[in-house]
Amino acid sequence: MRVSSSCRIPRRALPHSTKRPGRGLINMPTTPDPRIPSPPARRQRRLVLEIVLLGVMLGALWAKPVWRAQAEHSVSRALSWGAHDVLGLSDREIYAARLWLAGLAGTPNGQRWQAAPADATPVALGARHSAALDFADDTIRAAVYTLAVERGQQLAWRLTADLPGSTVFASLERQAPATDGWSLVTPVTPDGEIHRVDVDAQARYRFVVQPRLFEAFAGRLVTARGGQLGMPVVGAAARDIGGGFGVARDGGARRHEGIDIFAKAGTPVIAVVDGRVVHRQGGLGGKTIFLSPSLTGPRYYYAHLSAYTHHDGARVSAGDVIGRVGNTGNAAGGPPHLHFGIYSRGGAIDPAAFIAPKPVLR
Ligand SMILES: [Zn+2]
Repeated sequence: MRVSSSCRIPRRALPHSTKRPGRGLINMPTTPDPRIPSPPARRQRRLVLEIVLLGVMLGALWAKPVWRAQAEHSVSRALSWGAHDVLGLSDREIYAARLWLAGLAGTPNGQRWQAAPADATPVALGARHSAALDFADDTIRAAVYTLAVERGQQLAWRLTADLPGSTVFASLERQAPATDGWSLVTPVTPDGEIHRVDVDAQARYRFVVQPRLFEAFAGRLVTARGGQLGMPVVGAAARDIGGGFGVARDGGARRHEGIDIFAKAGTPVIAVVDGRVVHRQGGLGGKTIFLSPSLTGPRYYYAHLSAYTHHDGARVSAGDVIGRVGNTGNAAGGPPHLHFGIYSRGGAIDPAAFIAPKPVLR
Protein backbone atom coordinates (compact mmCIF):
# COMPACT_ATOMS: atom_id res chain seq x y z
CA MET A 1 0.00 0.00 0.00
CA ARG A 2 1.31 3.36 -0.96
CA VAL A 3 1.45 5.91 1.78
CA SER A 4 0.23 9.17 0.36
CA SER A 5 1.42 12.56 1.48
CA SER A 6 -2.05 13.24 2.87
CA CYS A 7 -1.16 10.98 5.76
CA ARG A 8 0.95 13.82 7.20
CA ILE A 9 -0.66 15.85 9.84
CA PRO A 10 -1.36 19.31 8.37
CA ARG A 11 0.59 22.13 10.01
CA ARG A 12 -2.58 23.92 10.79
CA ALA A 13 -3.84 20.97 12.76
CA LEU A 14 -1.06 21.38 15.34
CA PRO A 15 -2.17 23.25 18.43
CA HIS A 16 -0.92 26.85 18.26
CA SER A 17 -1.03 26.98 21.97
CA THR A 18 2.23 25.02 22.37
CA LYS A 19 4.17 28.17 21.39
CA ARG A 20 2.70 30.11 24.24
CA PRO A 21 3.59 29.10 27.72
CA GLY A 22 0.86 27.94 30.04
CA ARG A 23 -1.87 27.69 27.43
CA GLY A 24 -1.75 24.37 25.70
CA LEU A 25 -1.47 20.69 26.22
CA ILE A 26 2.04 21.13 27.71
CA ASN A 27 2.22 23.44 30.64
CA MET A 28 5.39 25.50 30.04
CA PRO A 29 7.07 27.33 32.94
CA THR A 30 6.36 31.05 33.00
CA THR A 31 9.76 32.07 34.48
CA PRO A 32 12.67 32.16 31.93
CA ASP A 33 15.17 29.30 32.07
CA PRO A 34 18.49 30.74 33.42
CA ARG A 35 20.42 28.48 31.00
CA ILE A 36 18.90 30.28 28.01
CA PRO A 37 20.58 33.68 27.64
CA SER A 38 18.37 36.69 27.47
CA PRO A 39 18.21 38.45 24.04
CA PRO A 40 20.77 41.23 24.86
CA ALA A 41 23.31 38.67 26.20
CA ARG A 42 22.80 36.50 23.10
CA ARG A 43 23.49 39.50 20.86
CA GLN A 44 26.64 40.31 22.83
CA ARG A 45 27.97 36.77 22.41
CA ARG A 46 27.17 36.83 18.73
CA LEU A 47 29.05 40.09 18.36
CA VAL A 48 32.08 38.62 20.14
CA LEU A 49 31.88 35.55 17.90
CA GLU A 50 31.69 37.73 14.79
CA ILE A 51 34.74 39.77 15.91
CA VAL A 52 36.68 36.55 16.56
CA LEU A 53 35.74 35.14 13.15
CA LEU A 54 36.70 38.42 11.46
CA GLY A 55 40.03 38.32 13.32
CA VAL A 56 40.66 34.73 12.17
CA MET A 57 39.83 35.66 8.56
CA LEU A 58 42.10 38.73 8.62
CA GLY A 59 44.82 36.65 10.27
CA ALA A 60 44.48 33.99 7.59
CA LEU A 61 44.73 36.64 4.84
CA TRP A 62 47.78 38.19 6.49
CA ALA A 63 49.45 34.83 7.12
CA LYS A 64 48.73 33.36 3.70
CA PRO A 65 52.01 34.38 1.97
CA VAL A 66 53.86 33.11 5.04
CA TRP A 67 52.01 29.81 4.85
CA ARG A 68 52.71 29.61 1.16
CA ALA A 69 56.43 30.30 1.68
CA GLN A 70 56.54 27.71 4.45
CA ALA A 71 54.78 25.14 2.32
CA GLU A 72 57.18 25.84 -0.56
CA HIS A 73 60.13 25.57 1.80
CA SER A 74 58.82 22.23 3.15
CA VAL A 75 58.30 20.85 -0.36
CA SER A 76 61.77 22.02 -1.37
CA ARG A 77 63.28 20.44 1.75
CA ALA A 78 61.39 17.20 1.15
CA LEU A 79 62.68 17.14 -2.45
CA SER A 80 66.21 17.89 -1.29
CA TRP A 81 65.94 15.22 1.38
CA GLY A 82 64.71 12.73 -1.19
CA ALA A 83 67.51 13.73 -3.59
CA HIS A 84 70.12 13.51 -0.83
CA ASP A 85 69.02 10.48 1.12
CA VAL A 86 66.99 8.46 -1.35
CA LEU A 87 68.83 9.19 -4.61
CA GLY A 88 72.20 9.97 -3.00
CA LEU A 89 72.64 13.20 -4.98
CA SER A 90 74.96 15.99 -3.90
CA ASP A 91 73.90 19.63 -3.63
CA ARG A 92 75.86 20.24 -6.85
CA GLU A 93 73.87 17.56 -8.68
CA ILE A 94 70.60 18.99 -7.34
CA TYR A 95 71.71 22.44 -8.56
CA ALA A 96 72.57 20.93 -11.97
CA ALA A 97 69.05 19.47 -12.10
CA ARG A 98 67.63 22.92 -11.31
CA LEU A 99 69.73 24.45 -14.12
CA TRP A 100 68.24 21.85 -16.42
CA LEU A 101 64.70 22.63 -15.21
CA ALA A 102 65.37 26.34 -15.80
CA GLY A 103 66.47 25.58 -19.36
CA LEU A 104 70.07 26.71 -18.66
CA ALA A 105 71.76 23.31 -18.82
CA GLY A 106 71.88 23.34 -22.61
CA THR A 107 73.38 26.85 -22.94
CA PRO A 108 77.17 27.14 -23.54
CA ASN A 109 77.69 28.48 -20.00
CA GLY A 110 75.50 25.76 -18.49
CA GLN A 111 77.46 23.10 -20.38
CA ARG A 112 80.80 24.59 -19.30
CA TRP A 113 79.60 24.70 -15.69
CA GLN A 114 78.57 21.03 -15.76
CA ALA A 115 81.79 19.91 -17.45
CA ALA A 116 84.03 21.96 -15.13
CA PRO A 117 85.04 19.10 -12.73
CA ALA A 118 85.96 16.86 -15.68
CA ASP A 119 87.78 19.72 -17.44
CA ALA A 120 89.74 20.73 -14.32
CA THR A 121 93.40 19.73 -13.99
CA PRO A 122 93.46 17.61 -10.81
CA VAL A 123 95.95 18.52 -8.10
CA ALA A 124 97.48 15.50 -6.34
CA LEU A 125 97.21 15.74 -2.56
CA GLY A 126 100.10 14.65 -0.35
CA ALA A 127 99.86 13.55 3.27
CA ARG A 128 99.03 17.17 4.11
CA HIS A 129 97.78 19.91 1.86
CA SER A 130 96.49 23.43 2.14
CA ALA A 131 94.88 24.95 -0.94
CA ALA A 132 93.74 28.55 -1.36
CA LEU A 133 90.46 28.73 -3.27
CA ASP A 134 89.63 31.80 -5.29
CA PHE A 135 86.79 31.74 -7.80
CA ALA A 136 85.82 34.93 -9.60
CA ASP A 137 82.17 35.45 -10.53
CA ASP A 138 82.99 35.88 -14.24
CA THR A 139 84.77 32.54 -14.71
CA ILE A 140 83.38 29.04 -14.88
CA ARG A 141 85.68 26.45 -13.34
CA ALA A 142 85.99 23.81 -10.61
CA ALA A 143 88.93 22.87 -8.38
CA VAL A 144 89.69 19.14 -8.12
CA TYR A 145 92.11 17.48 -5.67
CA THR A 146 92.79 13.76 -5.94
CA LEU A 147 94.49 11.20 -3.71
CA ALA A 148 94.77 7.44 -3.34
CA VAL A 149 93.74 6.20 0.10
CA GLU A 150 94.48 2.79 1.59
CA ARG A 151 92.31 0.63 3.78
CA GLY A 152 92.89 1.67 7.40
CA GLN A 153 93.67 5.28 6.58
CA GLN A 154 91.69 8.25 7.73
CA LEU A 155 91.06 11.34 5.66
CA ALA A 156 90.53 14.65 7.45
CA TRP A 157 89.63 18.05 6.02
CA ARG A 158 88.48 21.53 6.82
CA LEU A 159 86.87 23.86 4.29
CA THR A 160 86.74 27.48 5.35
CA ALA A 161 85.06 30.40 3.59
CA ASP A 162 86.92 33.73 3.77
CA LEU A 163 83.57 35.46 3.94
CA PRO A 164 81.54 33.68 6.64
CA GLY A 165 78.21 32.46 5.32
CA SER A 166 79.26 32.30 1.67
CA THR A 167 78.38 29.02 -0.03
CA VAL A 168 80.08 26.74 -2.50
CA PHE A 169 79.45 23.23 -3.80
CA ALA A 170 82.07 20.87 -2.44
CA SER A 171 82.11 17.13 -2.08
CA LEU A 172 84.32 14.20 -1.26
CA GLU A 173 83.93 11.52 -3.94
CA ARG A 174 85.25 7.99 -4.43
CA GLN A 175 86.11 6.36 -7.72
CA ALA A 176 84.46 3.02 -8.40
CA PRO A 177 87.23 0.61 -9.56
CA ALA A 178 84.95 -1.11 -12.08
CA THR A 179 83.48 1.92 -13.86
CA ASP A 180 85.98 4.74 -13.09
CA GLY A 181 82.90 6.84 -12.27
CA TRP A 182 82.85 9.03 -9.18
CA SER A 183 80.28 8.58 -6.42
CA LEU A 184 79.54 10.89 -3.51
CA VAL A 185 81.07 9.96 -0.16
CA THR A 186 79.95 13.06 1.70
CA PRO A 187 79.12 16.68 0.97
CA VAL A 188 81.83 19.08 2.16
CA THR A 189 80.51 22.25 3.78
CA PRO A 190 82.52 25.47 4.19
CA ASP A 191 81.87 25.46 7.95
CA GLY A 192 85.49 25.73 9.10
CA GLU A 193 85.10 22.50 11.13
CA ILE A 194 87.32 19.42 11.01
CA HIS A 195 85.65 16.38 9.40
CA ARG A 196 87.01 12.83 9.16
CA VAL A 197 86.28 9.73 7.11
CA ASP A 198 87.67 6.25 7.84
CA VAL A 199 88.50 4.38 4.64
CA ASP A 200 87.58 0.69 4.62
CA ALA A 201 88.77 -0.20 1.11
CA GLN A 202 91.60 1.11 -1.03
CA ALA A 203 90.32 3.60 -3.59
CA ARG A 204 90.99 6.89 -5.34
CA TYR A 205 89.27 9.84 -3.74
CA ARG A 206 88.78 13.42 -4.84
CA PHE A 207 87.59 16.71 -3.45
CA VAL A 208 85.58 18.82 -5.91
CA VAL A 209 84.91 22.49 -5.18
CA GLN A 210 82.78 24.66 -7.45
CA PRO A 211 80.64 27.74 -6.88
CA ARG A 212 77.24 28.29 -8.48
CA LEU A 213 77.14 29.63 -12.01
CA PHE A 214 78.60 33.17 -12.00
CA GLU A 215 79.10 33.27 -8.26
CA ALA A 216 82.38 34.04 -6.50
CA PHE A 217 83.94 32.10 -3.66
CA ALA A 218 87.15 32.50 -1.69
CA GLY A 219 88.36 30.18 1.02
CA ARG A 220 90.77 27.42 1.93
CA LEU A 221 90.68 23.63 1.82
CA VAL A 222 93.05 21.89 4.24
CA THR A 223 93.39 18.12 4.05
CA ALA A 224 95.45 15.47 5.84
CA ARG A 225 95.80 11.72 5.66
CA GLY A 226 96.81 9.37 8.48
CA GLY A 227 95.88 6.21 10.34
CA GLN A 228 92.43 5.47 11.71
CA LEU A 229 93.68 4.14 15.03
CA GLY A 230 97.06 5.65 15.78
CA MET A 231 99.99 3.92 17.49
CA PRO A 232 99.04 1.37 20.20
CA VAL A 233 102.42 1.74 21.99
CA VAL A 234 103.05 5.01 23.84
CA GLY A 235 105.95 6.94 22.29
CA ALA A 236 106.56 4.47 19.44
CA ALA A 237 107.00 5.60 15.83
CA ALA A 238 107.22 4.05 12.35
CA ARG A 239 110.94 3.30 12.85
CA ASP A 240 110.06 0.96 15.76
CA ILE A 241 107.94 -1.29 13.56
CA GLY A 242 109.53 -4.54 12.45
CA GLY A 243 108.33 -7.97 11.46
CA GLY A 244 105.89 -6.98 8.76
CA PHE A 245 102.49 -8.44 8.07
CA GLY A 246 102.29 -11.63 6.04
CA VAL A 247 105.95 -12.66 6.29
CA ALA A 248 106.59 -16.39 6.67
CA ARG A 249 107.09 -17.78 10.17
CA ASP A 250 108.24 -21.19 11.44
CA GLY A 251 109.84 -22.05 8.11
CA GLY A 252 106.74 -21.11 6.13
CA ALA A 253 104.34 -23.10 8.32
CA ARG A 254 102.40 -19.96 9.14
CA ARG A 255 102.18 -16.30 8.23
CA HIS A 256 102.82 -13.40 10.55
CA GLU A 257 99.29 -12.11 11.15
CA GLY A 258 100.23 -8.72 12.53
CA ILE A 259 103.15 -6.37 13.02
CA ASP A 260 105.73 -6.06 15.78
CA ILE A 261 106.31 -2.73 17.51
CA PHE A 262 109.57 -2.72 19.47
CA ALA A 263 109.77 -0.78 22.74
CA LYS A 264 111.37 -1.03 26.18
CA ALA A 265 109.84 -3.62 28.53
CA GLY A 266 107.10 -2.00 30.60
CA THR A 267 106.18 0.67 28.01
CA PRO A 268 102.41 1.28 28.24
CA VAL A 269 100.18 -0.03 25.45
CA ILE A 270 96.89 1.76 24.86
CA ALA A 271 93.42 0.86 23.64
CA VAL A 272 93.05 1.94 19.98
CA VAL A 273 89.23 2.04 20.27
CA ASP A 274 86.54 2.02 22.94
CA GLY A 275 85.70 -1.56 23.85
CA ARG A 276 86.02 -4.53 26.17
CA VAL A 277 89.31 -6.25 26.99
CA VAL A 278 89.47 -10.05 27.09
CA HIS A 279 92.63 -11.55 28.59
CA ARG A 280 94.11 -14.81 27.26
CA GLN A 281 97.34 -16.34 28.56
CA GLY A 282 99.57 -19.08 27.18
CA GLY A 283 100.52 -20.26 23.70
CA LEU A 284 102.50 -18.25 21.16
CA GLY A 285 101.14 -14.89 22.29
CA GLY A 286 101.91 -15.26 26.00
CA LYS A 287 99.97 -12.61 27.90
CA THR A 288 97.46 -11.30 25.34
CA ILE A 289 94.45 -9.01 25.06
CA PHE A 290 91.62 -9.12 22.56
CA LEU A 291 90.03 -5.65 22.45
CA SER A 292 86.52 -5.76 20.96
CA PRO A 293 84.51 -2.61 20.28
CA SER A 294 81.38 -4.69 19.57
CA LEU A 295 80.26 -8.28 19.13
CA THR A 296 80.38 -8.11 15.34
CA GLY A 297 83.17 -5.60 14.63
CA PRO A 298 86.90 -6.27 14.24
CA ARG A 299 89.03 -7.50 17.17
CA TYR A 300 92.36 -5.89 18.07
CA TYR A 301 95.01 -8.31 19.33
CA TYR A 302 97.84 -7.36 21.71
CA ALA A 303 100.46 -10.08 22.41
CA HIS A 304 103.67 -10.72 24.41
CA LEU A 305 102.57 -8.33 27.21
CA SER A 306 104.37 -8.27 30.55
CA ALA A 307 101.36 -7.02 32.53
CA TYR A 308 97.66 -6.12 32.44
CA THR A 309 96.23 -2.95 33.93
CA HIS A 310 92.53 -3.90 33.95
CA HIS A 311 90.60 -6.97 34.99
CA ASP A 312 89.49 -9.43 32.34
CA GLY A 313 86.28 -8.19 30.67
CA ALA A 314 86.71 -4.53 31.68
CA ARG A 315 85.35 -1.76 29.46
CA VAL A 316 88.00 0.70 28.32
CA SER A 317 88.10 3.89 26.25
CA ALA A 318 90.40 4.67 23.34
CA GLY A 319 93.68 5.98 24.74
CA ASP A 320 93.43 4.11 28.07
CA VAL A 321 96.53 2.17 29.11
CA ILE A 322 95.52 -1.50 29.02
CA GLY A 323 98.87 -3.30 29.49
CA ARG A 324 102.67 -3.19 29.31
CA VAL A 325 105.11 -4.25 26.61
CA GLY A 326 106.95 -7.51 27.34
CA ASN A 327 108.33 -10.66 25.69
CA THR A 328 106.00 -13.40 26.93
CA GLY A 329 104.97 -16.38 24.78
CA ASN A 330 107.22 -17.30 21.87
CA ALA A 331 108.97 -13.91 22.18
CA ALA A 332 110.63 -15.13 25.41
CA GLY A 333 114.34 -14.39 25.39
CA GLY A 334 114.00 -11.97 22.47
CA PRO A 335 113.66 -8.17 22.44
CA PRO A 336 110.46 -6.90 24.09
CA HIS A 337 107.80 -5.83 21.58
CA LEU A 338 104.07 -5.60 21.10
CA HIS A 339 102.67 -7.92 18.48
CA PHE A 340 99.58 -6.08 17.21
CA GLY A 341 96.96 -7.65 14.96
CA ILE A 342 93.53 -6.80 13.55
CA TYR A 343 91.06 -9.61 12.87
CA SER A 344 87.95 -8.88 10.84
CA ARG A 345 85.33 -11.38 9.73
CA GLY A 346 87.49 -12.13 6.67
CA GLY A 347 90.57 -12.90 8.79
CA ALA A 348 93.73 -10.95 9.65
CA ILE A 349 94.23 -7.48 8.12
CA ASP A 350 97.55 -5.63 7.74
CA PRO A 351 97.51 -3.09 10.61
CA ALA A 352 100.27 -0.86 9.16
CA ALA A 353 97.96 1.76 7.61
CA PHE A 354 95.65 1.72 10.66
CA ILE A 355 98.36 2.50 13.24
CA ALA A 356 100.02 5.39 11.39
CA PRO A 357 99.63 8.66 13.30
CA LYS A 358 96.15 10.10 13.07
CA PRO A 359 95.80 12.99 10.58
CA VAL A 360 96.53 16.40 12.06
CA LEU A 361 95.22 19.53 10.34
CA ARG A 362 97.24 22.69 10.53
ZN1 LIG B 1 104.59 -10.61 15.81
